[in-house]
Amino acid sequence: MIEYKVILDKNNEIFLKSNKTKIYLDPIHLIDEDYVFISHAHTDHLLNKKYLKKFNLKNKIISSNATSEIANIRGYNICNNIESFEDFKLIDNGHMLGSKGLLFKKEVFYTGDLSTRKRAFLNKPEIPKVETLIIESTFGKPEYKFPPLDRVIYQVNSLISEMYARGIPVILMGYSLGKAQVLTALFGLWKPLIVHDSIYQFNNIYKNFGIVLEESTSLSRAKEKNMLDKKPWVLIYPLISGKNTFINYLKEKFGAVTVGFSGWAVNKNYCHRMCLDYVFPFSDHCDFDELLEVTKKSRPEKIFTIHGFQVEFAKYLNFLGYNAEPVNRLKWGEKKALKTNKNITLDSFF
Ligand SMILES: [Zn+2]
Ligand SMILES: [Zn+2]
Repeated sequence: MIEYKVILDKNNEIFLKSNKTKIYLDPIHLIDEDYVFISHAHTDHLLNKKYLKKFNLKNKIISSNATSEIANIRGYNICNNIESFEDFKLIDNGHMLGSKGLLFKKEVFYTGDLSTRKRAFLNKPEIPKVETLIIESTFGKPEYKFPPLDRVIYQVNSLISEMYARGIPVILMGYSLGKAQVLTALFGLWKPLIVHDSIYQFNNIYKNFGIVLEESTSLSRAKEKNMLDKKPWVLIYPLISGKNTFINYLKEKFGAVTVGFSGWAVNKNYCHRMCLDYVFPFSDHCDFDELLEVTKKSRPEKIFTIHGFQVEFAKYLNFLGYNAEPVNRLKWGEKKALKTNKNITLDSFF
């Protein structure tokens, strides 16, 4: 017997509803004082701060302790998060520290941002079999296939080795929360290791949660100690355009090369568009084949695709014989919800 239904509200926020409760899944907007599931601490999944002030969500936010701690360091005020609720279970989803999917019995599984690829301290998650799967689809198009991680690691180490032999410093660039910690774990053996101050702060949170990361020096400390003058070095920095003033300064003054890490690097023009010297397809999300593998393992009767290429991925799944539907959520700042295929009150599916 299905006890929870999947519903969209007028802002296209997705929630699970029973007779008694409503649980919003990674909402940005909130209409009532309801239960809120926060899968992880990336800002596109965090409830807008305005609602945290407006509603009393004490004991109503379902998230891992790591997620609430990281969110609070980022200026959110999540108090008394709960890690379990009725028959709901938080399930590892391999995206970053503290990130979880939400499973309700064998009925509904919401993946949150998902990666099934083992990366440093992040393990391949178990995918449950459920009736309804709500799956992220950031890279839900067939062209997004990522190379094996071992190959990327080998190529990056060869590149750094070649640069070090010539005294050239290397800037490894990735999203400061999540990706940068994986980069620190994978390439932290190169010394001296300098990291951007925000990454230094996030690395320390990871260490507090028991993740072993190489020691590094924060960029501001490295500047004080004139460490940049002693080449070569490795700097881990947030992923931004190579045209950024500070990056340009590092290139001109020290001859540093820039190396970007992103799933979007599958696109041929990405390197050029970002004005970087090298890029590697490397993501904290599933690639297309991995999304298909998750779907296959989950063997759902109904699928909702959410984020990125949700329309394309749902189309592909329908072509394979699944019953899939895209959810077009309203982004923060957008006035009007994108039209969904139909008015999704999904009772009819159950
Ligand atoms: Zn994320
Ligand atoms: Zn996300």
